Amino acid sequence: MPLRYFVESFTMSSVTQVQASAAHESDSPKPDLRDFSLHELEGMVRESGERTFRARQIMGWLWSRGAESFDSMHDLPAEFRGNLKQRFDIGSIARPHVARSSDGTRKLLIRLRDAEDIESVIIPTEGRTTLCISSQAGCAMGCGFCATARMGLHRNLAAGEILGQVMAARCELDPGETLTNYVFMGMGEPLANYPRLHRALTVMTSDWGLGISPRRITVSTVGLAPAMDRLLADFPVHLAVSLHATTDEVRDRIAPINKRFPLQVLIDACKALPIARRRRITFEYVMLDGVNDSSNDAHRLVKMLAPLRAKVNLIFFNPFPDAGFMPSSRERVEDFQAILHRGNLTATIRESRGRDIAAACGQLFAERNPAAVSLPRSEAASPA
Ligand code: SAH
Repeated sequence: MPLRYFVESFTMSSVTQVQASAAHESDSPKPDLRDFSLHELEGMVRESGERTFRARQIMGWLWSRGAESFDSMHDLPAEFRGNLKQRFDIGSIARPHVARSSDGTRKLLIRLRDAEDIESVIIPTEGRTTLCISSQAGCAMGCGFCATARMGLHRNLAAGEILGQVMAARCELDPGETLTNYVFMGMGEPLANYPRLHRALTVMTSDWGLGISPRRITVSTVGLAPAMDRLLADFPVHLAVSLHATTDEVRDRIAPINKRFPLQVLIDACKALPIARRRRITFEYVMLDGVNDSSNDAHRLVKMLAPLRAKVNLIFFNPFPDAGFMPSSRERVEDFQAILHRGNLTATIRESRGRDIAAACGQLFAERNPAAVSLPRSEAASPA
């Protein structure tokens, strides 16, 4: 039970500590109220002499009604509101800069309070609207084909900053549009920021928070094997693993985390995961011309994933300046898919969305600093 685990793992004495670290992380004098769980808030409410139920009331304002100020919480006693205002901030994400693609995809460039920029993407497809969420500013994983990797890791996002993306995206929806799916495929490696991801998922999936079904949430990881198990023990979310290669030699080169968790270790870890019945792990595979797209690769992939309940998502490589890779041709991608299908492996091809606004997979990068994208590849490819 995710919520119980979360509640049990935080004693009251940790509240002050949490407040301090939340303030430190976002470099703000006041902690962000969006960083806290209901349990923590109840403790703080009691400490300040108010009745416990006020915490639920505040959560209702924050998450159901999207309140951005304490003044709007008019059913709280005025004195208590004043007290909260002195001690906390709410969010404090400025209105994002929004770029709209001809296909309806919207990219939100969000400036955080310490002037870090992150990106989130609203992706409408038939029957669903997906929000692509960032978990870190930059990324330390150093994948050779990813624009965010070129930034290096700037910092982890606080839970309130992860959740703030959902709140900001809600304000950018078209009339009648609602978010139906959430994917952690924006900037950063979510499992490298597990404590805050955990906090954010707790708010997202709790009845007192955003009340989102965990089945509508996908966490995508480069393959931090030990943390995958922990995630699925805590939340029944959907897991996507960025595989991208069928030999250690190639994966070492394009996803250097492979040196720490080589393919066999990763696949063994996947085999041991508690995957619910009728659910599967998605393996993402970005198709790089002449690097990982041969027929032999496809055959090896079939063999590698045969013991797993798996499906494969073939991704067209989205180029960016000085990427050093070329996308495989559509024909190659379709041939590759056909081999997987003949091997009884479900494989879909992910069509690029929002390319005209550089919002496609792997193109997320704080564009206000474009010079940093063109680091020499050798430098960019080493993990921080
Ligand atoms: N760090 C996580 C989540 C962020 S990346 C992960 O590695 O899964 C989300 C997906 O986009 C990953 O599968 C990643 O490999 C893919 N990706 C990165 N750069 C890309 C690019 N230039 N073109 C296509 N897909 C890319």
